[in-house]
Amino acid sequence: MSPEEFLEAAQSHSAWIAHYFEKVRDFPVLPAIAPGELAAKLPQSAPETGESIENIFSDFRSVIFPGLTLWNHPRFFAWFSVSSTQPAILADFLAATLNVNAMLWKSSPAATELEQVTLSWLRQWLELDDSFFGIIYDTASTAVLHAIGAAREYVDPECRTKGARPGLIVYVCEHTHSSSEKAAIALGFGQENVRKIPVDAQFRMRADVLEQTIQADLGEGKRPCCIVASVGSTSTSAIDPVQAIADIAERYNIWLHVDAAYGGSAAVVPEMRQILEGAARAHSLMLNPHKWLYVSIDCSVLYTRYPEILRRAFALGTEYLRTAEDESVTNYNEYGVQLGRRFRALKLWYVMRYYGRQGIVSMLRESLRLAQTLKSLIEQDDAFEICAPVPFSLVCFRHRGDDELNRNLLAEVNASGKAFLSQTVLNGNFVLRFAIGNFQTTEQDVRETWSLIRETAARIGENEPAGATRA
Ligand code: PLP
Repeated sequence: MSPEEFLEAAQSHSAWIAHYFEKVRDFPVLPAIAPGELAAKLPQSAPETGESIENIFSDFRSVIFPGLTLWNHPRFFAWFSVSSTQPAILADFLAATLNVNAMLWKSSPAATELEQVTLSWLRQWLELDDSFFGIIYDTASTAVLHAIGAAREYVDPECRTKGARPGLIVYVCEHTHSSSEKAAIALGFGQENVRKIPVDAQFRMRADVLEQTIQADLGEGKRPCCIVASVGSTSTSAIDPVQAIADIAERYNIWLHVDAAYGGSAAVVPEMRQILEGAARAHSLMLNPHKWLYVSIDCSVLYTRYPEILRRAFALGTEYLRTAEDESVTNYNEYGVQLGRRFRALKLWYVMRYYGRQGIVSMLRESLRLAQTLKSLIEQDDAFEICAPVPFSLVCFRHRGDDELNRNLLAEVNASGKAFLSQTVLNGNFVLRFAIGNFQTTEQDVRETWSLIRETAARIGENEPAGATRA
């Protein structure tokens, strides 16, 4: 591709991106598409000869784009709402251009050092002390795998040579994200060695039961290895009692990992900082800038106060990777299973600089405010109930009718293409989750979606067969 051709193509793509951000509400959040429909529209084999960017881009617009769920849409309220902001997009454009691999300091000195600098900046925003070493992985699922791998190294240093000893236990709670259990399975702990501690009425891990379970395990000769506490759990965004859990972790010398993948970003807001109070005592903590810090997927940060243990768990000192600078630099590949590493720090740097701390704080505050606005709207309607506390920007609620009504309600709202919500089950009931976090979401988006929910529920109620009992 000639420089002129590239420039022209880049300009047409940039124009489309700018238009997307401006007109995003004109597009359905959720595509009306059946499984297999998109694949059926595409050739079964790749082309023999090259095609023009114009044609490829045209197919992107007419075939691919309409089949996408628009995560970067202000009315995407499902799971956790995320944002890819323009500075992050520009940085990813550059990172792909340079295609550097941040596996070693030598393989890309500036990428390594920028990762150190941005993670130090972020650590300061979170008011964590400088004993926390940071590393960027793709996702929180990968970050927790490394945290639990480090935990195993911490309690069983011979595991890397002899294989892990049996009976190492990982403690999560009923509402901990499934990635922790998956990591324990992948690392060979055995699913039977993952304890799911019950939660209290506010969906927080019960520290008293955690301690009893640890004592029972010790009584049976098991070795408690890692506790995963959440600051912003996935179903309800509950904050586990991290201080009490840290006391227990210290008492029994167990690695404490804090999953703040979603909620952690909120600690940048001064009045929210207390959410990380106990987390500062953790052995490791993760948060996802790609969830709620306006950085495009993927970018997940793991902080640990024990980088040498993380390194011991994963470093090999391979000959062909040695460099003259090894003694004085960080070679990030030694802190994980991945050798090749994308230049993710660049987009974090762009976002942190473009918005600054104050800009980020005001965007986070707006999401927090909108969640409280929505909560009070729901509370004013007797047909609905709030199902969990709202410490962040996720609101869990349900119609007071039965599960079937709530299921239909969710399906119809989502099928409208006007908004996209997801669900969970709390105390045996089907519950709707309305997660706010996209940088373009306005109060009007929230209010109109709430009206849509109410109108849809009323319509479903009217169409009820006679004699059906709804509250
Ligand atoms: N932890 C929490 C609390 C989450 O909500 C999620 C995903 O939603 C994860 C971990 C996993 O995140 P990722 O998709 O980055 O692996």
